[in-house]
Amino acid sequence: MELINCPICDGSEFQNFIKVKDRFSLSEIEDFQLVKCNCSFIFLNPRPNSDEISNFYTHTDYDPHKKRNFSFYDLIYKLVQKVALKIKHGRIIKFKNKGELLDIGGGQGEFAIYMQNNGFSSTLQDNFSNYKGSLKFYSNIDKIKNKFFDVISMWHVLEHVHDLENLFNSINKLLNKNGIFVIAVPNHDALERKYFHDKWTPYDAPRHLYHFDMFSLESLLNKNGFEISKKYSMIQDSFYNILLSIHKKSIFSLIKGIYVSVLTIFNMLINGRKNASTIMVICKKV
Ligand SMILES: [Zn+2]
Repeated sequence: MELINCPICDGSEFQNFIKVKDRFSLSEIEDFQLVKCNCSFIFLNPRPNSDEISNFYTHTDYDPHKKRNFSFYDLIYKLVQKVALKIKHGRIIKFKNKGELLDIGGGQGEFAIYMQNNGFSSTLQDNFSNYKGSLKFYSNIDKIKNKFFDVISMWHVLEHVHDLENLFNSINKLLNKNGIFVIAVPNHDALERKYFHDKWTPYDAPRHLYHFDMFSLESLLNKNGFEISKKYSMIQDSFYNILLSIHKKSIFSLIKGIYVSVLTIFNMLINGRKNASTIMVICKKV
């Protein structure tokens, strides 16, 4: 385990925020501590170091590494993913409708392949994927040399990355001057978080190292040489998270899930999308 300073303000004074268990209970350490910095950023501290963390990605139920079958949850996951691909593509082509694309942490390449089939030339990068398809693939981002991209995307990846400085340096080098950098992360301002407390699935300790809201995400991007051009949310993730956050299969859990879903819909109608489960931004180099 390692202790870190705040990745945004470099501060070292924190308050304990919440303790969270590993939802797959693989760890012998009972609870993981999230702390809140004076700058308001919330993150895991202490955290497994970059060697230790691989032990926490081995569970067969861990979504991105999972072989899909036909359970109810898996069918919902596939449906949500299909809708999400269309939405992501639609938002990106408002800025760039062709060119070189790099998807960082892209797993088995679902997004990169979709973009390849829709006008882009895709490259896939993922430290842990065993991708064997036809796209250009790199397991180590530092191995991508003399290549520049018009679009670099990271879908639910930033919250997993230990060495943020190295990551942002790489992206700065690889992104064309007028290129766009697209990021989606779980939103700590998500409405349903308040109803599930430490059982809120996006806490996902110890795999999720950071918990962003729009303010902290923008602060981190600005610090690393990017400015946000457009802010979005992804509403469909709210309902998937509510489904995942209901742990026990009981009538009470079901009623709670329906109740929180209805509240989420009303909140979106009244307050817009700021409390959706996922925030997405499109940014450019400063
Ligand atoms: Zn801070």
